[in-house]
Amino acid sequence: MKVKPINQSDGVMFGVSFVCPGCGEEHEVRTRGEKAWEFNGDFERPTLFPDILAYPEHIERDGVRALQPRCHSQVNAGRITFFADSEHALAGSTIELPEILAESKDANSFASGEIA
Ligand SMILES: [Zn+2]
Repeated sequence: MKVKPINQSDGVMFGVSFVCPGCGEEHEVRTRGEKAWEFNGDFERPTLFPDILAYPEHIERDGVRALQPRCHSQVNAGRITFFADSEHALAGSTIELPEILAESKDANSFASGEIA
């Protein structure tokens, strides 16, 4: 699968996550409730609407504070397009989303993706 569900404790799905090949980490978007993204329900060929903007922010990676690059993308039919204003090497390109393991995880916090 290309996106995996993030479920509430009662099993209701409220978001999905995918591995972003531009950032090398997972981005999560809410698919239920306020400011939710539209999701086509296809975990193999996902489409998310609208586009996803991950703002630069300080993140902790291997104990080191790092600045996450701006990442502006659109997920369509299992492929991810990075807009030219992304600040990583894949800016301007469209590639297949990598596979993601289905193991559930606790998701009490979301990445900084917001509707652009
Ligand atoms: Zn990213």
